[in-house]
Amino acid sequence: MLETTTYTSYGGGNGCCWKNIWNMELPSKIKIFLWKACHNWLPKMVNLARRRVSVDGFCPVCKNNYETTLHAIWGCSGLKVVRSSFGFLKGMNSGKFQEFQDFFNSCVQTLDSDVMVLLCVIWWRNWHLRNQLVHESGRSGLKAVVSWSMNYISNYRDAMLTGAAARKRDVIPKAVKWEAPRRGVFKLNTDAALDVRLLRTGLGMVIRDHTGFVMASWAQRLEANYSPLVAEAMAIFRGITFAVEAGLVPIVVESDALAVVNLINAGDQIHAEIGLVVCDIRNLLKSIECGQVVFVFRMVNVVAHLLAKLALSLDEGRFWIEEYPLCVETVYPRRLSYLVCCAWFFLINFPSKKTKGKVITQLELSQ
Ligand SMILES: [Zn+2]
Repeated sequence: MLETTTYTSYGGGNGCCWKNIWNMELPSKIKIFLWKACHNWLPKMVNLARRRVSVDGFCPVCKNNYETTLHAIWGCSGLKVVRSSFGFLKGMNSGKFQEFQDFFNSCVQTLDSDVMVLLCVIWWRNWHLRNQLVHESGRSGLKAVVSWSMNYISNYRDAMLTGAAARKRDVIPKAVKWEAPRRGVFKLNTDAALDVRLLRTGLGMVIRDHTGFVMASWAQRLEANYSPLVAEAMAIFRGITFAVEAGLVPIVVESDALAVVNLINAGDQIHAEIGLVVCDIRNLLKSIECGQVVFVFRMVNVVAHLLAKLALSLDEGRFWIEEYPLCVETVYPRRLSYLVCCAWFFLINFPSKKTKGKVITQLELSQ
């Protein structure tokens, strides 16, 4: 016999639940999932049994309890590893709640908003993995649910920030060529490159003076799989740190990551992963006279771009004092005219079938 529970009907007293869900920083598909979960609309064994479909209503994973919404996405003994690695609900026993909606509302009242967002993504992920396990006999991947969910939120926020920045058209400058800073000021160009297959991040940085003379250039490889925005912010942070330590200040920093530049200059508090790096950059800028970060098109940022690509193939960080590394010098001689540089830029980034092999060979040989 199935337990008889009173299921909340659509609408009645759910305004609060709806408002809580809709105010969360989550993709619509997860909000809809939560809305369904709060209304017991997810297809579970208990519901099928009530509709007299020939199932016993028991959880197909643990086979120990009736499969309610709360059991399927949080309470099941099969999810113990997720619950223990989440760790924010200590002292809060989901077992005392019959309805998912009550548990959800209780969590909203107890948890910090960022932790609540994480928990919602975890529930959504648990539901997806459970379905995979039950219907496709797939591997569950439960151990990684929490880290997967954190990563998911970070990527979602990065995407939101990029979209918001792209809409701010007024910050795009007219300049499309590298311009020397005014006398007495140094210019730092930074860029980042990612190797998603080998989980590496490459940072490229170059500092030039008011005549365009290269003071220093360097490439650094990090054994970490940062999101594109965090990687770009890391390059700016490392670049300014070096400039300050080497006394190459005051400085103007140029990056081709518009979203990051806007975040640094906006001055708002940022909760996403990138917030920590942006905060460090702001603090560094405050400590030096006349420090500013501006956006440039990638075409203008080509040296830093090449250094970042080069960094992916290096074992350790490399510095070049008053010069570029040979491979960059080969494709971007310091005295080469602007037009030729542009041509090289397009060859590297959009190579035809004929030229692709040549450019790669040249880069490899020179390294
Ligand atoms: Zn179960």
